[in-house]
Parts: sequence; C-alpha cells; structure tokens
Amino acid sequence: MGVILTGFVPSVSTKLATNRAVPAQSKLSPDAALRELMDGNRRFTSGHLTTYEEDLAILKQKTSEKQEPFAAVLSCADSRVPVELVFDQSIGHVFVTRVAGNFVTPEIIASLEYGAAVLGTKVILIMGHAACGAVKATIQGKQVPGQISALYLHIQPAVDQAGPDLEAAIKANAKIQAALLRQASTVVSSLIKENKLKAVSAYYDIASGSATILG
Ligand SMILES: [Zn+2]
Repeated sequence: MGVILTGFVPSVSTKLATNRAVPAQSKLSPDAALRELMDGNRRFTSGHLTTYEEDLAILKQKTSEKQEPFAAVLSCADSRVPVELVFDQSIGHVFVTRVAGNFVTPEIIASLEYGAAVLGTKVILIMGHAACGAVKATIQGKQVPGQISALYLHIQPAVDQAGPDLEAAIKANAKIQAALLRQASTVVSSLIKENKLKAVSAYYDIASGSATILG
C-alpha cells in the first residue's frame, strides 16, 4: 500500500464548469448511462469537475425526498477510490455499494437489485482498482487479525484464474463478480434481457484517475 497519488490534480477552484445539464434518469438508455459515467471520468482526469457547485445547489434545493440515480457502482472500500468524484457525479446520481475487494454477497446483490428494480439504475459498474490491498493479501494468503480473511474466500477464484500477477487478478476479480451478479440475480438478469440494464466490469487506475471498461 502507501501509493502516492500523482499524475492528476483536479483543480476545483479554477476549472469548475458551470451548470452542466444533468440528464434525467428516465431518458437514459443503459448505453447512455454508461457513457455518462465515462464522460464524468474524463472530466475528472482532465481536471474539469462540474459537481462541486451542483452538490451545493442540490443541498440548497432540499431535494431530499427521493433519489433517481442513473447508475450503480460496486467499488472497493479503498480510500483512493472516491466513486462520485471519479465519475464527476453529484448528489443523487450514483447508487454506491462498497466492500473491500468489490465482490458480490447476498447483501450487495440485494442492494444492487434495489437500485435497479426500485430506483431504476440503468447501468451497474463493478469496479476493481490498481494496487488493491484485499486482492494483494489474498494472493499472499497472509495471516491477518480478526475476520479480515473472510475477504479471501470471495477473491480466491480470481487469484486461481489469474495467478499471482496483482493487476491480472484485480481485473479477473471485477469480471468474475460482474458475471456472478448477472448469474445470481434474477432481477438483474431479466432487466438485462429486456435491455433496461447493463452490468459491466471496470478497472480504475489510481495513479491516472482513469476508469476503463473491461471486455
Ligand atoms: Zn481495494
């Protein structure tokens, strides 16, 4: 761990775009929802964040009664992966679930099903990230205190598939978890069949701030 963030310094004070039009969730297709996330990531890496002013405006509007997120993200708990910031999305736009190692459990699936079936998210992104400590520890099989090793069980299939290369195992894990979600959730799989939802895996490079869709 202990990776120093270099290569991107989004300058909030000098490069704020003004009032980017926020797409209405009901009008977004799954492809458009994914595009909106990736466009946000490009704004993030180029230092053209738009969400800071939006967030402040949204807070003032008291839109606290309901949420209409267009996308859901399953991310690692790692502090170097600030999901809303990475995709330049403001309050109410992204439904985020997080667990160290970004793997699906019944509770995570339940949360993502709620996001898709009740809130209407159009895309689910399962996102691993560079230098993931949970995947690294699984590869090493290190003795760890308490219940930390409970994470290993979920990540081991990726290590079995990809071998000891950290980046390969992280990418394999994101793909395996996306496949597991599509398999285990009848809610997700039927929405995908009806072209109302996409569930894709991604890799986040913590040095550049760039998110890449995995094949
Ligand atoms: Zn991680």
